[in-house]
Amino acid sequence: MRVRASVLADYGLLQEEELELDGPGPGEVAVRLSAAGVCHSDYHVFSGDLPLPTPMVLGHEGAGVVAAVGAGVATVRPGDPVVLSWLPSCGRCRFCLSGRPELCRVPATAAQHGTLPGGRTPFRRGVTREPVYQFSLTGAFAEVTVVPESGVVRLPPGTDLEVAALLGCSVLTGTGAVWRTAAVRPGESVAVFGSGGIGLNVLQGAQLVSAYPRIAIDVSQRRLAAAIEFGATHTVRADQDSVLDRILELTGGLGVDAAFEAIGRPETIAAAFNATCAGGRAVVIGVAPPNAEVGLNAFAFPSQEKTLTGCWYGQSSPARDIPALLRLHNAGSLRLRPLLSQRYGLGELERAFEAMLDGSVNRALIVFDP
Ligand SMILES: [Zn+2]
Ligand SMILES: [Zn+2]
Repeated sequence: MRVRASVLADYGLLQEEELELDGPGPGEVAVRLSAAGVCHSDYHVFSGDLPLPTPMVLGHEGAGVVAAVGAGVATVRPGDPVVLSWLPSCGRCRFCLSGRPELCRVPATAAQHGTLPGGRTPFRRGVTREPVYQFSLTGAFAEVTVVPESGVVRLPPGTDLEVAALLGCSVLTGTGAVWRTAAVRPGESVAVFGSGGIGLNVLQGAQLVSAYPRIAIDVSQRRLAAAIEFGATHTVRADQDSVLDRILELTGGLGVDAAFEAIGRPETIAAAFNATCAGGRAVVIGVAPPNAEVGLNAFAFPSQEKTLTGCWYGQSSPARDIPALLRLHNAGSLRLRPLLSQRYGLGELERAFEAMLDGSVNRALIVFDP
């Protein structure tokens, strides 16, 4: 089958191409995309900060309809609406068996190679049938992609697929960081460094569990305005104010119970740690370049019992948590539609990156012709 895709030919170089797509093998599912969100992780690969093999089809946050299934697939059928999950899991390893499927090693290895588990990539191009890799076992910036069965979560018929697309990365990650990784309790104070697609969902997750105050930190006034819409009670302009002083002022001189870093920079990771109170926890969600290191005061760990931890994919189990998030949205508790501020065609991915970087969109969405 031939499909249109946005191909990262080399770092910084995107081109719309027609690719050959193999059908789904055993345990795999072909999905015709309706919409795909544009995430900072895609940009990190585009820019070369996250060095992965090229040519590659980016995109890892999407929703669509099952087009075909391979042998042995039991959980979905052609025609089912689904969300893509960029962290499929094997269900058998030590991490899967201990309830931490986000740490499964099978997708981690495949993602490094830009392939499906087993080393195959479904996309090829040109007369030489050169392999085109797929980002994070998804490759959602293509009309149709092929993913492992555990890389899709079935949705109820009639689900709005534009809204559902966001459930596969930013919403799952942001809310999961609050509810599972930091396990924020009502009345606890939180600070969120970075008010992009992830940070806004940290804020709405914090609001849903009645954390207070909920402090958003960013350098963009536009993003801080969005942060208020998504539940921030206070905002701090990192380029104008002393962030730590403001946080101490808002928390009676103590610091916050939970700080979230949703940018992926060593300085903001340290700032998040320093903003927590004694006994507090700082959660790193942002993806820093592979060799980045963070400098922290070592004495603060024992003397103040501080925790610094990471959060990968909201510490979630997609098959359990994505339907739960959709139910919260349907009940009016979780705001997803306002996250979607701008739609782009497949050939406009670079423009979507620019809008994401300058803060003029909450979440840019690539939409596909029906
Ligand atoms: Zn993402
Ligand atoms: Zn596993």
